[in-house]
Amino acid sequence: MDLEQSCKTFHETKRLPIQNFWKTLFEKGDRQDILSDARYSEYFAWKPKSSNCPELQSLLEQLIDSVPDNWRTRARRIFAGRTLDFLPNGKAWRDGQVGVIEINYGVTSAAMIYSVLYCKYFEMIRTIGLDIDFTDDDSDTLKMILDEVGDSGFSPILKADSERNSWRSHRAVYAGHELLRELPASRSMDSYHESVRAIEEFILAHELAHHLLGHTADPYPRARQNSNHLDKMLQKYQVSLPEEQEMNDDQLQELSADALALFIMTGALTDELEAPRIYRASAGAIIGLTALAHIDDSWVSIPGAPGETHPDFISRFSLASHLIKAVSSDIPVGDEGGHPFGFLSQLSGFVSIILNHWLAEHIDGRSPVNVLSLTNWLFERSLELQRELEHLGLYRT
Ligand SMILES: [Zn+2]
Repeated sequence: MDLEQSCKTFHETKRLPIQNFWKTLFEKGDRQDILSDARYSEYFAWKPKSSNCPELQSLLEQLIDSVPDNWRTRARRIFAGRTLDFLPNGKAWRDGQVGVIEINYGVTSAAMIYSVLYCKYFEMIRTIGLDIDFTDDDSDTLKMILDEVGDSGFSPILKADSERNSWRSHRAVYAGHELLRELPASRSMDSYHESVRAIEEFILAHELAHHLLGHTADPYPRARQNSNHLDKMLQKYQVSLPEEQEMNDDQLQELSADALALFIMTGALTDELEAPRIYRASAGAIIGLTALAHIDDSWVSIPGAPGETHPDFISRFSLASHLIKAVSSDIPVGDEGGHPFGFLSQLSGFVSIILNHWLAEHIDGRSPVNVLSLTNWLFERSLELQRELEHLGLYRT
């Protein structure tokens, strides 16, 4: 495989000029104001090497640093390119000397929308946890405050829910309503960008994993060794993929790619596990998978059904959360009381709002999560969590 050829072929197939993707995007939108702004001239003059996007290139380099030495030669010849397609998909393909990862612009668009939803959800539960006085005797006032706080977290999610159909019929994901764009004032741009990048990193890592595991039409000799290594990692952490009769081959490959992506992102693959990396991988995987399932309506499906290329959300979510829990079980509780288990619970609360809303629409007698049931769940879960962490001896003494 050859990087230069991969870069050339990617741009030819996608009919894109070999230059910074963002320059191409602004050219398409005829944004001369931005293109001629001297502040960006250096940025736009940037030349593609292993990606047509500077941010994607640095994410890819980071990921390649997180695989074992003897996996790297192959990984360094893969070109990861952004495309102008607005569907939220990634793709991995190989053809002779060419190895390509495609990340559609729709991935970025979806990552931005669902990061806004997550930031608003996070502010809501933070307010519930810190600012609301539950010892207040006046239960009517308490209910009113809760409803109002709940509204700030729930409305954006419901808005996204109502815009999904138009995303699907236009085959493009974009933030139509301000609720899907505006961040809560108390939330910093940094944490929002972190979340967007974590989602993109997870999708990139997943596609890289397809290459490394030889899932492309044209696999390579090391692929078998890499797959065996992944199996050993799964055994080590006691994480199991579904049985072969439950899933077809395509679906099993998707789950393996998720698993390898998470081992790479958390640092587990090179024995360099670190709490911040686990947090980042958790956000990227869980928010990313939730966004894709919400947009595609792929929450549940008949396991192993022929013709289904992707596993349903529940299978992917449960594999991801098992794996994250397994790699976190030796991580001590942080100085402020934070632990990846706790973060995973918060993320699960976010997932449950979106998923239950969908279930309530499709199953009789099922009611959506509201702020009261969420608050109850969060309290119960935080007590459970404390016991779990104590039991594992993860509090520093
Ligand atoms: Zn895949």
